Amino acid sequence: MIRIGILGYGNLGRGIECAIKHTKDMKLIAVFTRRDPSSVKILTSDAKVENVDKILNYQDDIDVLILCGGSATDLPKQTPEYAKYFNVVDSFDTHANIPQHFERVDDAAKTSHHFGLISSGWDPGMFSLNRVYGNAILPTGCDYTFWGKGVSQGHSDAIRRIDGVVDARQYTVPVDKALEEVRSGSNPNLTTRQKHTRECYVVVEDSADKARIENEIKTMPNYFADYDTTVHFISMEEMKKNHSKLPHGGFVIRTGKTGWENEHNHVIEYSLKLDSNPEFTASVIVAYSRAVYRLHKEGKIGAHTVFDIAPAYLLDMSAEEMRAHLL
Ligand code: NDP
Repeated sequence: MIRIGILGYGNLGRGIECAIKHTKDMKLIAVFTRRDPSSVKILTSDAKVENVDKILNYQDDIDVLILCGGSATDLPKQTPEYAKYFNVVDSFDTHANIPQHFERVDDAAKTSHHFGLISSGWDPGMFSLNRVYGNAILPTGCDYTFWGKGVSQGHSDAIRRIDGVVDARQYTVPVDKALEEVRSGSNPNLTTRQKHTRECYVVVEDSADKARIENEIKTMPNYFADYDTTVHFISMEEMKKNHSKLPHGGFVIRTGKTGWENEHNHVIEYSLKLDSNPEFTASVIVAYSRAVYRLHKEGKIGAHTVFDIAPAYLLDMSAEEMRAHLL
């Protein structure tokens, strides 16, 4: 049994718990939270809920610690910190800061002889893998990634960290015209702004300065500054009634050419249509946690990404079974 710990119990933490339930080779040992543990109700009856200050007592009981905090402020601190004591997996999704995050986790994990997998999930994660396959197979070509329409947890989380914000949902919306152009095979050059818009639904404290909050959202680097962003201030009732679900999806497209004179066109498309973004992200993370466990057992240490992990490590199936049924 691969013994799992979860640090941080929000949407993703709960999704991890659900995904572990449907494996045969994994067991949830404990959930760690920065909140009062008695206020956090989990679903697994034989797992513990502990305050994070008890986490080091579990070093011998946990094979892989899955970090479920937000990318905006939690994971940049938590992943390098806990890589000192555990094999760790996170879903860090601030793309621009991945190289720096990788270095910090790599330093910690190499020093402590642990394995750290960063930025697993679907984007980064499964979409990243498909970009690599597309570029390897069609070196003469163009990459396109579209998201949505769906709630981006990372962006919603980033808004929730702004002073005066009580709750927030951010929808990423692909621009239809851009999508049609890409699918036609015309290889258009599209700016970030031409491909997607961002719609934010925000609940604020009664005394909050809405103009300041709107400006902080719209100018936030990496998250909103490069997009046409609209901000709607709504009531908590409206949030609960109309924005309580977390659907998402999107697609990665590689268009490219082959032949002596590049006379043949090809389109590779990988798409996801997700009822629940956190549950799907969690399912990817759980599969990669199996790989982390196996690779650490083989003596591998340091930080890695999905690019470094061979597919056979992800599945609870023997190599013989995989060759017989999945090749
Ligand atoms: P949440 O906001 O639900 O949870 C983040 C953290 O906030 C939790 O770990 C928890 O920590 C704390 N928290 C949660 N609920 C409460 C509460 N009621 N009161 C106080 N604190 C709370 O974020 P998500 O789980 O939705 O997403 C986490 C991250 O996952 C995102 O920031 C994003 O970076 C990443 N992600 C990555 C994807 C990918 O494809 N790579 C896709 C989707 C998400 P604690 O228990 O310690 O208080």
